Amino acid sequence: MPIKAFAARSATSPLGPFSIERREPLPRDVEIDILYCGVCHSDLHSARNEWGFSVFPMVPGHEILGRVTRVGKDVTRFKVGDLAAVGCLVDSCRTCSSCKGGLEQFCLGTGADGAIFTYGGLDKHSPVPGGTTHGGYSERIVCTEHFVLKVPANLDPARAAPLLCAGITTYSPLRRWGAGKGRKVGIVGLGGLGHLGVKFAHAFGAHVVLFTTSESKVADGTRLGADEVVISKDASQMARHASSFDLILDTVSADHDMNAYLALLKLDATLAVVGVPSNPQAISMFSLIMPRRTLVGSLIGGLPETQEMLDFCGTHGVMCDIEMIRMQQINEAYERMLRSDVKYRFVIDMASLKG
Ligand code: NAP
Ligand code: ZN
Ligand code: ZN
Repeated sequence: MPIKAFAARSATSPLGPFSIERREPLPRDVEIDILYCGVCHSDLHSARNEWGFSVFPMVPGHEILGRVTRVGKDVTRFKVGDLAAVGCLVDSCRTCSSCKGGLEQFCLGTGADGAIFTYGGLDKHSPVPGGTTHGGYSERIVCTEHFVLKVPANLDPARAAPLLCAGITTYSPLRRWGAGKGRKVGIVGLGGLGHLGVKFAHAFGAHVVLFTTSESKVADGTRLGADEVVISKDASQMARHASSFDLILDTVSADHDMNAYLALLKLDATLAVVGVPSNPQAISMFSLIMPRRTLVGSLIGGLPETQEMLDFCGTHGVMCDIEMIRMQQINEAYERMLRSDVKYRFVIDMASLKG
């Protein structure tokens, strides 16, 4: 049965109504009726082929939350009626050392036997020959149980949906490179990822400094958990923090001067990058060698850590600040995202697509 979706037909066409097919649930599959889907800047980069590897037509969306409608006979963790979520991955080889270590995003398999992203990936179970995976801007999704996450019952489902990408993408590097008590941690950019970065770093007990280009976001930065807010365009405000940070998380989606943030790190401190501007960014080697500093990257998180993050959010009441939109407003939402005008994640109410 065809279902309703919204797709980009090419890199230059706006998103519009589209019809896709989902497979009949296999023995280990969970079928989810999608209630909410967050809008990630990666959806925009991909729909406009800014990274150069998009496949069209494309149904974006990888912050998916909904209710289970059917389960295959071998499914053990979900039953009909449960809340369930799917993030950026829907499959991987499950046998390589990365997969065995719970780092499915770094699966060593290739092609259809490697990490399969929620949209634009090779779909070995596609009902259409040679089909690609389709994301959450759609009525339903069918996904193998291992890649389906449990959502704590106390979280507002719409405000929890963006945790599936923006949440894990900030939680994972903040945990790995030590955002916690006694540490001075910077978050660059107050968008979807950045606002969760501020919330997590605050919840982990760090001294949190938000860097923003938007003067209008200063009060929100403090409300969301930042101890200090720096306007990054103001060189004198930046200079006050020279060589003082233990960790900075860079979530910026566009070209920016990363040397300005490296200059704020102490000896042996870390700049962790999660934002993916489409162009290469210039780094002066002096920014890294004087004094010795570390530049690292991070990609979402594996399934065990994603569940750990959701459970942490349930325990500590961490949720996203969202603006709910109808599916039909998606092109306008993308334009606002480009203007850094998101407070702080758009979430699509999927009832608007179904109705
Ligand atoms: P977003 O909501 O649009 O937020 C990006 C923020 O960056 C903006 O709100 C703005 O914050 C700041 N910014 C934008 N343009 C800027 C510029 N020219 N100079 C300086 N700052 C600028 O985007 P998002 O959904 O959080 O995603 C952010 C990036 O992370 C995207 O590139 C996305 O593809 C990437 N991403 C990576 C992963 C991963 O696994 N590594 C996962 C998800 C997303 P201010 O207004 O506060 O300055
Ligand atoms: Zn994303
Ligand atoms: Zn693997």
